[in-house]
Amino acid sequence: SPKKIIKRSHHIDPELLSKNAVKVTHVLQEAGYEAYIVGGAVRDLLLGIAPKDFDVATNATPEQVQKLFRRSRLIGRRFQIVHVTFYGKERPEIIEVSTFRAHVQADDAHVAANGRILRDNVWGSQAEDATRRDFSINAMYYDPQTETVLDYHSGMQDIQAKIIRMIGEPSQRYREDPVRMLRAIRFAAKTGFLIEENTLKPIEILGDLIQDVPSSRLFDEILKLLMSGHAWASIEGLQKVGLHHKILPLIEAILSDEDRTLFVKKSLENTDARIKAGKPVSGGFLFATLLWHDVQEAWANFESNGMPSIPALHAAIDEIFNQQKAFLGMQRRHEADMREIWAMQPRLEKRVGRYPYRLIESPKFKAGYDFLLLRCETGQADAEIGQWWTDFWQGDENLRADLMLQAK
Ligand code: ATP
Ligand code: MG
Repeated sequence: SPKKIIKRSHHIDPELLSKNAVKVTHVLQEAGYEAYIVGGAVRDLLLGIAPKDFDVATNATPEQVQKLFRRSRLIGRRFQIVHVTFYGKERPEIIEVSTFRAHVQADDAHVAANGRILRDNVWGSQAEDATRRDFSINAMYYDPQTETVLDYHSGMQDIQAKIIRMIGEPSQRYREDPVRMLRAIRFAAKTGFLIEENTLKPIEILGDLIQDVPSSRLFDEILKLLMSGHAWASIEGLQKVGLHHKILPLIEAILSDEDRTLFVKKSLENTDARIKAGKPVSGGFLFATLLWHDVQEAWANFESNGMPSIPALHAAIDEIFNQQKAFLGMQRRHEADMREIWAMQPRLEKRVGRYPYRLIESPKFKAGYDFLLLRCETGQADAEIGQWWTDFWQGDENLRADLMLQAK
């Protein structure tokens, strides 16, 4: 496709640029290579949004890139890229630098019989690099030195028309990498854009291909979706195209039960608001809300078989982790957070002795308390308990002593 060069009329605000990303492109260019900011960062810049991370694309090979930056690492995932790390006053910023790659053709030996790409470490030209990307709005290059945008697939036009359009033949591109179906939904939720008809239609037919995606990659993608700041809109988007049946039995179960939907909707809206306000959100908290219903069911079961309440809760948690092993298995740190959040719930209802004093000192108190507030908001716990903890947590010694008396 012919390349369009857009100067000035793109109105990119230089204030939104990462100085480190600009520096990386500058160093590469000084060394004689081509280098651009690329992908989602350009999309966000054109939308006037501050990108949360910056990727750089170059014609230098990973080894050549690595030689130019002291704090850089070769990362070999599906293909090799270089992470260049910058340490500043805030947390370190990683600029991901990738070499222009070609789109692997469907008749190539690297493509499995079902069309999925197995290895795509084939260097190419910039035009080829643009063509192997997913959506037109994700395939633009920005040179901060000359302030020009290079656009190979009418991404600018689609940004203006608010359209998400797959590059190439959509069914083929979904077969190569089924994760692109989830990405389409996530970007639609994030930008409020419409998914173009030919890009949308195959998703309803090809949804089953999601099952071929390795679970660790699926987990990453679902976490991205839940942490996008548009989690609830994304879940609704998945439901609209029927993908909620395919990704996670969990998401399907959530949407098939009204009480559950309410709790998860509230918690995801809550998460979305936190992310938009720049507050941290933990994956553990998110998954604790998604699986809470299952834990409660199993908990009640163990109790009705005569097990005392607290051991029954832990048995229930073990059972749920076991059931979700394929999905959560590689995410041990989330499991630890989830267990603490859940185990704290009955303890938060027990407001006697030194208990409350000890609980507020626990490093996980805030997460458990936030979870309790969510339960109060959705009518699962008495609103009085949530208010009591808010007062207790914020109160001085006297107020706390009063509250302890009230609780009895
Ligand atoms: P986000 O805002 O979530 O970071 P992004 O577009 O930057 O969105 P990344 O996952 O960071 O998404 O990917 C960076 C770029 O790499 C994309 O913009 C796209 O050009 C390309 N890309 C990523 N994943 C795929 C994929 N599965 N298929 C084709 N191209 C992809
Ligand atoms: Mg990105």
